[in-house]
Amino acid sequence: MMEMDSTTKNALVAELNKARNVSFTRYGSIEAEIILSGFKALSAIAAPFAPVVGAVNDLAESVSFTFPTPFGTVVYLSKNAVQSSIGELCTTCHELVHADQIAEAGTIQAAQNYILSSPNRAKLEADADAAAMFCCYLFGYDPDVPARVEHLRGRLYHISDADIVSAKTDIELHLATILHGSVPAISVARDLIIAVRKICPQLIVPAAFRP
Ligand SMILES: [Zn+2]
Repeated sequence: MMEMDSTTKNALVAELNKARNVSFTRYGSIEAEIILSGFKALSAIAAPFAPVVGAVNDLAESVSFTFPTPFGTVVYLSKNAVQSSIGELCTTCHELVHADQIAEAGTIQAAQNYILSSPNRAKLEADADAAAMFCCYLFGYDPDVPARVEHLRGRLYHISDADIVSAKTDIELHLATILHGSVPAISVARDLIIAVRKICPQLIVPAAFRP
């Protein structure tokens, strides 16, 4: 298991964000306070958003999330997410997958895919989790699929039991790819391995992924 200093973490995040250009808002900042109060208002006025957004508001300390705005996509990093550099990087990878999903589907469609459909939400979360899992694995953390699946079962996501099973299968397939020494077919994962090999190759733990 590796330690990472915040300068290295910031360099990796900047590299990952080069082609994405999202804005990051960290727990405790004024921007975060404004965003959280905006979500509170949104959940009060827009019924379809209420189940997901209402929970986000409750869980601001423990849940990170990504959302589109007229000024671009914003990633909010929770209190839990910013406790360590590697943890923050893994959460950033997860959220940047969501940023790519928003960019690919378009804002309105992405919101509908995510909010109105349990099977889609399961798939979108499974892919985002796979990128985070790959990041953890690169720095020596064991992939914990059951913990990730349990997390998806949490009340925030409102994913049905059947869709949890398919999300678990998705995550396991990505894990098999990783354990085989290959990079999961997710843009953020591909960009991550390139960035890590360039910026801090000495921190890569599994021999299969070293340059
Ligand atoms: Zn997510």
